[in-house]
Amino acid sequence: MERLLAAIDARRDDLISLTQDLIRIPTVNPPGENYRDICDYLARRLGPRFEISLLHAEGTPGDSPRYPRWNILARREGARPGQCVHFNSHTDVVEAGRGWTHDPFGGALVGGRIYGRGTCDMKGGLAASIIAAEAFIDTFPDHDGAIEISGTVDEESGGYGGVAWMAERGYFSPGRVQHVIIPEPLHKDRVCLGHRGVWWAEIETKGRIAHGSMPFLGTCALRHMGAVMGEIEHRLIPALSNKTTAMPVVPEAARQSTLNINSVHGGQPEPEPGSTGLPSPCVPDSARMIIDRRFIIEESLDEVKAEITDLLERVAHSREDFRYSVRDLFEVLPSMTEADSPVSTALTKAIGTVLGRAPEYVASPGTYDQKHIDRIGRLKNCVAYGPGLLELAHQPDEYVEVDDMLDSAKVMALALHDLLNGPA
Ligand SMILES: [Zn+2]
Repeated sequence: MERLLAAIDARRDDLISLTQDLIRIPTVNPPGENYRDICDYLARRLGPRFEISLLHAEGTPGDSPRYPRWNILARREGARPGQCVHFNSHTDVVEAGRGWTHDPFGGALVGGRIYGRGTCDMKGGLAASIIAAEAFIDTFPDHDGAIEISGTVDEESGGYGGVAWMAERGYFSPGRVQHVIIPEPLHKDRVCLGHRGVWWAEIETKGRIAHGSMPFLGTCALRHMGAVMGEIEHRLIPALSNKTTAMPVVPEAARQSTLNINSVHGGQPEPEPGSTGLPSPCVPDSARMIIDRRFIIEESLDEVKAEITDLLERVAHSREDFRYSVRDLFEVLPSMTEADSPVSTALTKAIGTVLGRAPEYVASPGTYDQKHIDRIGRLKNCVAYGPGLLELAHQPDEYVEVDDMLDSAKVMALALHDLLNGPA
C-alpha cells in the first residue's frame, strides 16, 4: 500500500500537466466542440496500458458532421479474470460565461490550484482517475480483473450521446462491468450515492384574442397563468417543502421536493432591442411557463405529474373559459445506491486510510450520468466520487486543488486494489 501511495505522490507534476492539457482542449457543450480532439489526446495517454475504442454516437442529439459525438473507452485486462472497475468521466464542459480573472481555457496553476472551465466539473476528476489507474497498474502489473476508463460526452445536456448511448449498447452490462465510479466533484471525503429526479414541463394556458380596449370580449391567457402561478405560490410550493426525503441530499435545503419556474412568456413577443415601434392592443391568447420540478426517491413520476394536473383542474373549476395543456420536456427518475454497496464500501475504507476519517454519504440535488448506468445499464453498484467542490461548478474562476486531486487519486487507487486484488 505504501508503494502505491508513494507512486501517486511521485506523479504530482504529471497530474498537474495532465489536468492542464485537458483544460486546454475546450470541449464546450453546447454545441459540443473538440470532442474528437479530447478522445485522441486520451487515446495517446492511455494507449500504452489500455486497449482503446473510439465510439461515435451517431444520430444522437446534437451529432452532426461539424460536432460529432465521440466517446472513448479504454479497457485493460489483468493477469487473471475477475471483476471490472469502471471510471466514467464526462469530457464536456459548459460555456465559460463572464467574470473570469483567469483564462478559462488556460489551466493556470496558482497557489496550488488549477483554474479553468471544467477543472472541477470534471476534468480534475478524470485526471485523478487516470493517475490512480496508472499508478495502480505500474505497481501491480499482474492485477486481477479489468479496469476501464471512459470519457463520454454531453453529460451537461442529458448524456444521450454519451453514457446513455453506451448503456443502451451493453457497455455497462453485468458481464462486462461490476463497479462504477464517476469522479464528479463531490469532494474527496464524500461518497455520492445518487441524485433526485427531474421533470421539466411546459404549461400553456389558452385564451381568446380580442381588442385590448374591450378585454371582456376575449379571454386573457396571462390572467389564467397568473391564477396558476398563485396556486403554485400559495399551495404547491408550501406542500413541496413538506415532502422531505431520507436521501442525504446536499445542500440540506435540497433534502425535499422543489420547483423552479424557469420562464414565463405570454402575449406579443418582446420587441427587438432598439425597436421604436409600439405594441398593438390585443388580449393575449396564449401564455407558456416552463417548470423544473425536482423530486425525491419517495415520490413517483406519475404522482409528480398528477400534482400539476390536479392543480390545473382546480384552477379550471374556479375560472371561466380556462383551458390548458401540459407538454413533457425532460424526465429523469431518482437514482440511489446503498451506502454498503461494494463500490461504496471500498471507497469508504480507502477514505479512512488516506484521510483518517469516515466519509459523508451524500446525494446530489441535480442529476448526472448515474441515472443511465442505473436505469438503462441496470447496474446499481455505482457512485460518484471525485475531487473538487460542487459549488464551483459552472462558475467563473472554477478551480480544483492539486492536493485534493492527489488525495482522491489515492482513494481511487486503494479502492481499485481492494475491488480487484482483495483487501490489503
Ligand atoms: Zn459534471
